[in-house]
Amino acid sequence: MSTAGERVVSAPPRGPSPLASGTWRAAGMRQAVLVEPGRLELREVTVPVPGSGELLVEVQCALSCGTDLKAFRRGHPLFPMPAAFGHEFSGVVAKAGDGVEEFRAGDAVMAVPTAPCGSCFFCGRGQENLCPEAIERMVTGAYADYLLLPARVVKHNTFHKPPELSFEQAALLEPLACVVHAQAMARRSRAETVLVIGAGAFGMLHLLVLRHGGVRKIVAAGHGAQRLRWAEELGADRVIDAFREDAAREIAGLNGGHGPDLVIECTGQLAGWRDALARVRRGGRVVFFGGCAPGTVLDVDTRRMHYDNLSLLAPFHFRRSDVRAAYDLLRCGLDGAQAIINARRRLAELDEVFALLERGEALKCAVIP
Ligand SMILES: [Zn+2]
Ligand SMILES: [Zn+2]
Repeated sequence: MSTAGERVVSAPPRGPSPLASGTWRAAGMRQAVLVEPGRLELREVTVPVPGSGELLVEVQCALSCGTDLKAFRRGHPLFPMPAAFGHEFSGVVAKAGDGVEEFRAGDAVMAVPTAPCGSCFFCGRGQENLCPEAIERMVTGAYADYLLLPARVVKHNTFHKPPELSFEQAALLEPLACVVHAQAMARRSRAETVLVIGAGAFGMLHLLVLRHGGVRKIVAAGHGAQRLRWAEELGADRVIDAFREDAAREIAGLNGGHGPDLVIECTGQLAGWRDALARVRRGGRVVFFGGCAPGTVLDVDTRRMHYDNLSLLAPFHFRRSDVRAAYDLLRCGLDGAQAIINARRRLAELDEVFALLERGEALKCAVIP
């Protein structure tokens, strides 16, 4: 993660890109580290040297993520502190390790930070999203000048960035893979009415993928005038202010009074999970997409669940096939993808990024080294 002799730097100077000079050389780089909840340090560390099968990527864009915000607020089991921070990125290969044939220095690339082992119990059952190798060895440290990609990620989940795709959109690959996986699990169909609860970045990505899939009616419920406006702009057919008194009645009136066929919960809050359960129609499906804080307990009325024949789904992470599908979506042009990234800051301004997210003033912020 970081090396001996690291020191905290406030506004470190950055020399010309090693790529610009045409020769790559090992030197110092900046890397953001979450030291404790609410405290980030920009440290100067040694640029890693890629080993066999690995790639050293010069980060062009890292995106803020709801998971990062959770970790910043309260810590996160996936990121034991001190944690090199950031996991959504795109960049240019600075140096390829021995044996890498698919990529070479100067290639623009996009990747997700994990890859399954292919041989464990879960991989053997097609549940690569639960592969311990993938989760425990997640690559973090994208809020940095450089990022080292391990051989497995290079081999399975790294792609050439199409020239027509911006580095910002390319960095959406990871969150989009999560969304694609969830919607595949939900087996949504075009003829349905889908309610998305939560108008944050993940809620918006769900909207885009639902719209791209030609879903008949997409309804977004959330709060904050600005967020609801964004949801409308990004293609929700109807937007409902979840704080309004008659919100529940309005949702119950969907589908000729049956309620939504599918509800996708994206707030990661117990209130949102309860809402999702309460709003879905008889015989409908709920996708609990947003993970809650550890220890959160949800009570379910078993009568409602059984006699109303509910299907409760809680997708986590993604499989390689989801990453491929997300890549294809971006490559073929996912309308609105660029609009979700609605703030930009330099790496040295990372504190400001989280302040922006806390205030709900940005969906996703691009962090440019
Ligand atoms: Zn993410
Ligand atoms: Zn595995």
